[in-house]
Amino acid sequence: MKIEILEKNDNNLRLIIRDADVPLMNALRRIALAEVPTMAIEEVVMIENSSILQDEIIAHRLGLTPLKTDLDAYNLPGECECQSEFGCTQCRVTLTLDAEAKEGTRTVYSGEIVSENPEIIPVSDKIPIIKLAKNQKLKLEAYARLGRGKNHAKWQPTSMCAYKYYPKITVPEDKCEDCSKCADICPKKVLAFKDEKVDVRDLLACNLCMDCVEACPKKPSPLRVEWEKNAFIMNIESTGALPPERILQEATKTLGEQLNEFEELIKAEPQ
Ligand SMILES: [Zn+2]
Repeated sequence: MKIEILEKNDNNLRLIIRDADVPLMNALRRIALAEVPTMAIEEVVMIENSSILQDEIIAHRLGLTPLKTDLDAYNLPGECECQSEFGCTQCRVTLTLDAEAKEGTRTVYSGEIVSENPEIIPVSDKIPIIKLAKNQKLKLEAYARLGRGKNHAKWQPTSMCAYKYYPKITVPEDKCEDCSKCADICPKKVLAFKDEKVDVRDLLACNLCMDCVEACPKKPSPLRVEWEKNAFIMNIESTGALPPERILQEATKTLGEQLNEFEELIKAEPQ
């Protein structure tokens, strides 16, 4: 297998993966979405809420606020030594919010949430939590825990995780009518028409929609759009909870663990 990084930044990773197949790509995609743990607020103790929003709605908004996650410092609640429903310092982070609108109406943002661990904080301090009118108050304590996306979307580490086939476009050399219909219709501007010839401008942008082939006045079209069966372009966009490369690493680790477990179960099955 060969991997080539196209783009990498704090929240986005785009790769070309060669010599892989659809089942593997799909397993990694699904595990990245549903199995890689992240931190999210799981319980909220409301101390004072004189806002117009009900406690449950505020708790729901807090739960869906992505938190920076340190996977190496915390245990999943079910796997922690404490085995306590309340959790311990190894499996739970306490966050507090104490906001009041003294001057007049104001918006309370995620940046006002105070965490006992400065590493486990909202990924952005500009997420609106609630709007308070004058003299309204919101005071609460929240407990964040590790969890998996398959149990609740708030624990999904990715806001987008998808792959597509690597496109292969063959441009006609001489059989073309020299119109520019294929280049004009492409929504991704993959093809360009210059010097009376069709040229591939941005191959990786192609999503194999085939509009260019259909727009060609020649039937069958000399323009050929195909895909490589064993090459893929994968895009992982993180919510900010974990770096995208860490999400992929954890996904491959989880896949390995699941296969090992499967192997052990087969061995344990009596003949
Ligand atoms: Zn614990």
